[in-house]
Amino acid sequence: MASQQESPYTVHAESKLLKFKTRQTKKPAPWPRDSLLVRIGCSVRISSESHHLTPTGPGRSAELERQQYEYAPDSDEEVVIVVFHAEDLRSDAACRAAFRRKLRRLPQLAGFRGAEVALWDAFVPPGVVGEILSAAASALVAAGGEEEDDLRSSVGYCCDVWMHVEAATVYSEAKALLLSCTDDDVVGGGEEQCPICMEELTEDGGGVTALPGCSHAFHRACILEWLHTAPTCPCCRGELMQYLPHQYCQCDEA
Ligand SMILES: [Zn+2]
Ligand SMILES: [Zn+2]
Repeated sequence: MASQQESPYTVHAESKLLKFKTRQTKKPAPWPRDSLLVRIGCSVRISSESHHLTPTGPGRSAELERQQYEYAPDSDEEVVIVVFHAEDLRSDAACRAAFRRKLRRLPQLAGFRGAEVALWDAFVPPGVVGEILSAAASALVAAGGEEEDDLRSSVGYCCDVWMHVEAATVYSEAKALLLSCTDDDVVGGGEEQCPICMEELTEDGGGVTALPGCSHAFHRACILEWLHTAPTCPCCRGELMQYLPHQYCQCDEA
């Protein structure tokens, strides 16, 4: 089983629809008949938080270091105008996917372009999909209506979307440590137990991994939970901080 690409960062996002308005507008000639013009205004607040582990000592647990910053783009950066084909917006899923793709073009969310679909899904504000779908339906009716050709080709629909996104980036040293573990060929016959939960070490449910240095093996989920409390091996108490991937150590020097 190929392990998915991991990152020591977790991003939580919440999105709100502040205002939605549809209006009829004159449509410039070259646009497709069923086009739907959408102006997206988006304010963003990004905060960051880091979870650093203290070097060991019996009974000591992870220290939480929190730094927050806000990002507010210039007002003339805020609005992006995009054109949808109403024909492409026939279902909830299609509309959501299309809106997600448009959000990727917002300069204020550029820092998240490499993130997975689930995060971009969280950026889509609740309610916006239904609103766009009904605007698209109107655009389709106008495009396919009985009116004179020159009239229907000049009617366009424009949606104004105002939204706000809160995104929190959480860096976890424990997750970074997990990146230095070995996943391949950890378990031989499946007779070994995970020293944390005492269940059999099988690939089911998140897989197994071996710590750098001592090679003691655990379920990934079990050892991650442990690493949130201490950067040592629970079996032999071997120090693990030395194996922290160096590209993730820069936060300490800042
Ligand atoms: Zn376990
Ligand atoms: Zn060990």
